[in-house]
Amino acid sequence: MDKTVDRVLQLAEQYRDYTAKNLSRLVMIKSLTAGEKEVAAELKKQMQGAGFDDVRFDGLGSVLGRVGKGKRLLAFDAHIDTVDQGNLENWSEEPFSGRIAGGFVHGRGSVDQKGGAAAMVTAGRILAELGLTNDFTVLFTGTVMEEDCDGLCWKYLVEEEKIRPELVVITEPTALGIYRGQRGRMEIRVSFKGLSAHGSAPERGKNAIYMGSRACLEIEKLNERLKSDDFLGKGSLTVSEFVSGSPSLCAVADSARIHIDRRLTNGETRESALAEIQSLVAGLPATVEVLDYREKAYTGREYGMEKYYPTWTLAADHSAVVRAGDVFRSLFKAEPRVDKWTFSTNGVAIMGIHGIPCIGFGPGNEVAAHAPDEKIAIDDLVKASAFYALYALKMK
Ligand SMILES: [Zn+2]
Repeated sequence: MDKTVDRVLQLAEQYRDYTAKNLSRLVMIKSLTAGEKEVAAELKKQMQGAGFDDVRFDGLGSVLGRVGKGKRLLAFDAHIDTVDQGNLENWSEEPFSGRIAGGFVHGRGSVDQKGGAAAMVTAGRILAELGLTNDFTVLFTGTVMEEDCDGLCWKYLVEEEKIRPELVVITEPTALGIYRGQRGRMEIRVSFKGLSAHGSAPERGKNAIYMGSRACLEIEKLNERLKSDDFLGKGSLTVSEFVSGSPSLCAVADSARIHIDRRLTNGETRESALAEIQSLVAGLPATVEVLDYREKAYTGREYGMEKYYPTWTLAADHSAVVRAGDVFRSLFKAEPRVDKWTFSTNGVAIMGIHGIPCIGFGPGNEVAAHAPDEKIAIDDLVKASAFYALYALKMK
């Protein structure tokens, strides 16, 4: 039996309550996108308390905790913003209670994804205690603004902070499966220009609502014929908003615009997705554009990107995936489930834009993300902390 495996498991178990309590504290601090200041300060405090070698904030306010001083860099990422509670009537308890009961930590963000952050803190503590004897520094990032713009925080880390790990483990919920990809996405706006006329004589005008409506029905058909990928599944698109304008309610509408949520499978790109929409509205007075995201972080730093989030997949036989399988088997004496996310993650920037290999492994089930009565099993947190620590120790 590998002594390191034993020791890691033993420490992760020993820190069970510590991990749950750290998560509870993180959950109790509400942290919507661009409002992460307090939770970031709490996470920094937890990392310092865990014996990390260095903890600091980047320009957007993400927490960067380092363990070790090797020349090579491995990163673990958890975003620390959450979505709002939604309709309170759907909750059976206070959404930000952080209550620990029945083997679970309860509350918004417990699964998506402060659970990953808490498991990282414990992994860092285990690594600080055991000592990293390989050539690696481990960077644990508690990143901001992910819920509104996945990948933005990592675009910033790579492009502005010049941090480029050779591999990133994303700790979003995978129910302890090993994930190696996700569909990409983009947000497209199509604007239609009509001609207004008095509502009593519609034949004199050109109704932008009719143009937009025809396009919407074509988009519905396009969704049916999009191609599929064996691993990631089918690309998809849906119209998520329709807005029109008119000089009066007694006039022909002279403007309309639709918002399209496009999910991209393997082989679909920004260009191919745009070309499909352009061909649907060819001949109409319409413009097609990819929208931009631009927002101020809690630090006051404004940052943005185009809302194109590229698809990424890591091959099943990539060393990072193989290592994840080995680590899983040696810790849990079982075969891992290798799969993909349905939703989008920071991987769109890490691997999709910057080509840095990514894998996913996280506590909690993604089905509970953004849902009422969110809660996470403490067993999952313990297992994830052991996995992260051993993964870092097994890097070669
Ligand atoms: Zn998430």
